Amino acid sequence: MAHDVIVVGGGIAGCAAAERLAGEGLSVLLLERGALASGATGRNQGGLLPSPMPACGGLFAEAIAFYEEAARESEVSFRFRPHGYLLVASDEDGLVRARSHGRALSDVGFPTQEIGPGELRDLEPGLAPDLAGAVVVEGAHALHPVLAALVLAGRAVHAGAEIRTHTSVRGLTTDGDRVTGVVTDAGPLAAGAVVLAAGSWARSLAQQAGSDVPVFGARGWLVRTVPVTDTVFRHTLMQSTWHGPVGLKRSGPPLLTDVAAPATTATQVVFSLQPLPGGEVVLGSSSGPALQPDDVRDGEEAVPLIAAAAARHAPVLAKTPVLAAWSGVRPMSPDGLPVVGPAPGAPGLWLLTGFGIDGMPLAPGTARLLTEHLVSGRCPAGAEPFAPGRFDG
Ligand SMILES: Cc1cc2nc3c(=O)[nH]c(=O)nc-3n(C[C@H](O)[C@H](O)[C@H](O)COP(=O)(O)OP(=O)(O)OC[C@H]3O[C@@H](n4cnc5c(N)ncnc54)[C@H](O)[C@@H]3O)c2cc1C
Repeated sequence: MAHDVIVVGGGIAGCAAAERLAGEGLSVLLLERGALASGATGRNQGGLLPSPMPACGGLFAEAIAFYEEAARESEVSFRFRPHGYLLVASDEDGLVRARSHGRALSDVGFPTQEIGPGELRDLEPGLAPDLAGAVVVEGAHALHPVLAALVLAGRAVHAGAEIRTHTSVRGLTTDGDRVTGVVTDAGPLAAGAVVLAAGSWARSLAQQAGSDVPVFGARGWLVRTVPVTDTVFRHTLMQSTWHGPVGLKRSGPPLLTDVAAPATTATQVVFSLQPLPGGEVVLGSSSGPALQPDDVRDGEEAVPLIAAAAARHAPVLAKTPVLAAWSGVRPMSPDGLPVVGPAPGAPGLWLLTGFGIDGMPLAPGTARLLTEHLVSGRCPAGAEPFAPGRFDG
């Protein structure tokens, strides 16, 4: 039997979309090639960090309200919690960047306040005494990303969606230029609409229907310690930011020279620290070329850089045992905004990708926008900045 919608990808975006679409009474089938949350969603540190990008402010508030409700209603705790957030600076240049980022956040409604080295040490005694200061940002939250995705998947099933894991979508079926379904190892499956929530892998699938969206992958590494005993970290800490007008961000796939360069040149690293409820900390973060999903050789360079940045900013961690290091591939778009809506030139095909560094706070609201558009046939208010067609011409 044909489904109304097939969702490809069981990360936070696909699970959020399946829940919304099924909630509208549509028959929804979600296909995931691995386990749920086996892509970037299962590799991130679960920060819900305010973004200075104006188009994202409303979606952030929507996500907080959404996760609050989901946490209240779920018997599975996904550890959703408000969380302190500090933009820390090791020197004057860093402080200038943190200030500028703080101003941009204030402009879009997140209160911020600069503090000096003394106050910073009072808030986070585990930090190095010679840091230049920090900007305190209000509004951040944190959650367990895998459990959050599983809770959303459970809500989708409750709303009537079917989920098949370990089912790869190999291709799309078409009738003329219209997308009519997907191809799996078990054969073709027909659908009224196909939603690509396949993270950085959405582009190659969309290309099969003649639609190109400039989404590309950027690998990020994280390092996790055992519970820290010498101090308690209370805030999400960032040396700088991957967000918006300042800090580090990539605006396109790697150039040949990036690929040829040693990872130390091609990989960008900023200090970040996410405390977990058990006292462990997750240290990051890096961003480097990701041409093949399974090529993790850059970890040999990225992981030591992350450890060095952590030791510089939080020397108390120097003797803390390290438990694990892992990486994931962020689905990036050239302007840092998600790609949400009908795929240009391929009727029946929809895109929900390009979440970059912010998939956890952006997925719930963009899944709603996509659902409204798909159901009504009209682009809903607030969806314009994310339209896939914005890159054309
Ligand atoms: C190191 C790191 C740290 C991060 N930290 C944060 C953070 O603190 N906060 C935050 O908000 N974001 C963070 N992110 C970004 C966040 O993880 C992503 O924005 C988000 O997970 C994207 O979700 P997604 O569902 O679009 O993609 P994914 O989670 O990658 O899901 C795509 C899914 O599609 C599946 N798939 C792909 N191709 C096919 C196919 N052909 N057939 C079937 N299934 C397919 C994949 O297996 C995958 O499960 C981080 C990312 C990384 C790598």
